[in-house]
Amino acid sequence: MRAGLNKSLLDKAEMLFNRAGLPEVVQAGDLVALKLHFGEKGGTAFIRPQFLRRIVNRVKSLGAKPFLTDANTLYLGSRANAVDHLQTAVENGFDYAVVDAPLVIADGLTGKDYVSVEINRKNFKEVKIASAAYQADVLIAVTHFKGHELLAFGGALKNVGMGLGSRSGKQMMHADFLPKVRSEKCTACNKCSRWCPAAAIGVKGRVSVVDEKKCIGCGECTVTCPVQAIGISWKSEPELIQEKIVEYVEGALKNKQGKYGFITFLTGVSPDCDCCGWSDAPLVRDIGILASRDPVAIDQACVDLVNREQVLPNSRLGGRGDVPDKFRALCPQTDWTRQLVYAEKIGLGTREYELISV
Ligand code: SF4
Ligand code: SF4
Repeated sequence: MRAGLNKSLLDKAEMLFNRAGLPEVVQAGDLVALKLHFGEKGGTAFIRPQFLRRIVNRVKSLGAKPFLTDANTLYLGSRANAVDHLQTAVENGFDYAVVDAPLVIADGLTGKDYVSVEINRKNFKEVKIASAAYQADVLIAVTHFKGHELLAFGGALKNVGMGLGSRSGKQMMHADFLPKVRSEKCTACNKCSRWCPAAAIGVKGRVSVVDEKKCIGCGECTVTCPVQAIGISWKSEPELIQEKIVEYVEGALKNKQGKYGFITFLTGVSPDCDCCGWSDAPLVRDIGILASRDPVAIDQACVDLVNREQVLPNSRLGGRGDVPDKFRALCPQTDWTRQLVYAEKIGLGTREYELISV
């Protein structure tokens, strides 16, 4: 994170992009999805837009066509549909005038624009990947590394896997799902029935009813109901969610052999996800920016680099003395290694890495 005359952090970020071989994944004419998190309203730890502008300009210099993208959220914050999402992105500084590229919400207006990608894995036979990201020629995930209230940390795998799942895909990652209609809220509009792929839900009398024998747990009804009358279950085990996220990463990268890369910012490493409407004091000092073409190696390196640091005294983990595993301390119920182990096992990358300073 050192900088000086003729070597700003923006310059260094571009040097890193080059040194990590990312220009090799981009060819003239490619549509290049730069997948980031635009930050929830109220958050402040997300990546500064100026860094995205520098990456955008580098991609343009290769003759390609970059755009900034993310998919809508499952929870009803400030990014659950494309209108709110774009509004929030602009308020957080990700405006065309700043980043020099268009913003595309990857799964469309209401989160229903996705491509079903066959993967035939343990948890999912197919996954629902936000269409704009899947249809792009190149995917570069620009990730802010931080803690996470359920998964212990959020890095490149989570940015791509959970981040590029459609809204109903996110529901499927979060829960082994059986919808429960709250009858007191249901207005009998029957919209859930129109989107159900299994004809498993529909209004009977004055309330919608689920046929549990037919329901395939896709989550479409939950994200469709305009009055949130269908309960969202967040009950999946952290380890199972990690595996599901990894399977979504496989789906997101499936049509992009050799056409993806990862840049991760180890700055403002807050204890909570950027989906929260706040950013608590960082756990450790700003460490640097990493780049790689391997999503497993870059996440493993980030975890190791953070765990090597002393916790900052004013952070959530301050006052506890030496904390060798910050993520276990943040999230004692979660074995955070699962996502890395499983990602390596299914061939997404390796936990072995070499750190090369630029
Ligand atoms: S979860 Fe899917 S299959 Fe089940 S009722 Fe809802 S829309 Fe239908
Ligand atoms: S979409 Fe919601 S409000 Fe409309 S019928 Fe279904 S559960 Fe009821």
